This record gives sequence, structure tokens and C-alpha cells, in this order.
Amino acid sequence: MATVSFNKATRIYPGGDKPAVDQLELDVADGEFLVLVGPSGCGKSTSLRMLAGLEDVNAGSIHIGDRDVTHLPPKDRDIAMVFQNYALYPHMTVADNMGFALKIAGVNKAEIRQKVEDAAKILDLTEYLGRKPKALSGGQRQRVAMGRAIVREPQVFLMDEPLSNLDAKLRVSTRTQIASLQRRLGITTVYVTHDQVEAMTMGDRVAVLKDGLLQQVDSPRNMYDRP
Ligand code: ADP
Ligand code: ADP
Repeated sequence: MATVSFNKATRIYPGGDKPAVDQLELDVADGEFLVLVGPSGCGKSTSLRMLAGLEDVNAGSIHIGDRDVTHLPPKDRDIAMVFQNYALYPHMTVADNMGFALKIAGVNKAEIRQKVEDAAKILDLTEYLGRKPKALSGGQRQRVAMGRAIVREPQVFLMDEPLSNLDAKLRVSTRTQIASLQRRLGITTVYVTHDQVEAMTMGDRVAVLKDGLLQQVDSPRNMYDRP
């Protein structure tokens, strides 16, 4: 079961006068799409990076399923992450970009091909597998970055402002694609954005952060209903 729980997880940067994330208490259910939202500097990325193992946790703990991952290196957490700067390898085809992590992990070629083909089908990228990234649109590149993550079949999927480099129109369509992909895969997802509309339209639940403190966690519907 790929639940995620932050148990009073706290991050204080060296030299920081107060925690960037202060005793975060948050549970994400198996298969849930949780959005972390709030203004710039409120601690969203830090929270996600603690979950990914890219940032030390100074107090408290983080669990994935029944495993305490607080001090595990990123590669042992069974997560995949898509960033806003989803640099693809420019000299490699889409297929090779998507299969690269599996190749490094020593997976055999036939299995890689199958996984890449499956992911391409889901992401509508089949006809682009032989292209180089520069011959793709921004939205297509973004989907390749997601494909690269999902071929690894991680337990938890993390996204940090994955749409921020897309233009407004593409953001709307990609938003819908990501949300439906997540539901089809049923993969536990934590998604960071500063965009309220993204938060309200994509998430099963929305967690609002402010100054490193969790303000509220609820479904979009309940948030709207609140006076
Ligand atoms: P958000 O993702 O919501 O924009 P961050 O998690 O990036 O917020 O940052 C939270 C706070 O921690 C901010 O005050 C930011 O300036 C600070 N911070 C982020 N990264 C570092 C760092 N590497 N060193 C010191 N302070 C940092
Ligand atoms: P090589 O590694 O020698 O190029 P392959 O062409 O069989 O051998 O490639 C193995 C690989 O399958 C992976 O690295 C993967 O990313 C890739 N791959 C290449 N072309 C395709 C394709 N058309 N469909 C699916 N996967 C492909």
C-alpha cells in the first residue's frame, strides 16, 4: 500500500531563523491525488523534496506505506519525480529517453521496449517514439518526462510545478491529461503548485501551506463550500 505520511516533519535550512516546513502532519491515501498549494516560499518544494529524500528532515519522520523512509536515499524510496525543468536528453530519441532509467537499472531490452510502448500508448506518444525532443511541442516533451517517470512503476509519483513552463492554453489541456492519467494509473501522487485553479481542479484533496505551516486539508468541494 503506497500511503504517504508526514509525521511532524520539519526542515530548518542551515542559517534559517525559522523552519521552512514546520511539523508537517499530513497523510496521503493509497491512490490519492494530493495537491500541495500556497504562495511562493511557503514550503511546498521543501515538503516534496523531503518526501523524495532530496532534503534532510531535521525532526519528525516520513513514511511510505509501512516503511520509515526518513533517512533512506532517494533511490530506495520507490518514488518518481517530475520537475518543472524536465530536461530530456537532447541527443536521444523519445523512446531512449523514456527507457533510460530502466537501461541503467539493467532491465533487459525486450522488457524495456514493452514498458516504453505501454507508457507511450497511455501518453499518446506512440508516433513520436523515434523523434528527438527538439522535434516535439512543449506539451509532448512534458508527457515524455512523465513517461520517463511512469515506466519505472514507482509507488509514489511526485510533481513539482510540472506545468509552469507551458503556455496558458497548454496548461489547461495538460492539467486534464495529468489528472486522468493519474486516475487511470491509480498511483499515489503528491503535486505541488502555486496555482489555485490547478489545485482545485486536479486534486482529490488540497493541502494549503503558509509560512511553512499547514493551514487546511480538504477536498476541493469542501473548500469551495467554506464561507
Ligand atoms: P515553495 O516551494 O513553496 O516556493 P520552498 O520550499 O522552496 O517554498 O521554500 C520555503 C522556504 O525555505 C523559503 O523561505 C525559502 O527561501 C527557503 N529555502 C528554500 N530552499 C532553501 C535553501 N536551499 N537554503 C535556504 N533556504 C531555503
Ligand atoms: P539499443 O539499446 O541497442 O538501441 P534497442 O533499440 O532494442 O537497443 O533499444 C532498447 C531500448 O528500447 C530502450 O532503451 C528503449 O528505450 C527502447 N526503444 C527504442 N525504440 C523503441 C520503440 N520504437 N518502442 C519502444 N521502445 C523502444
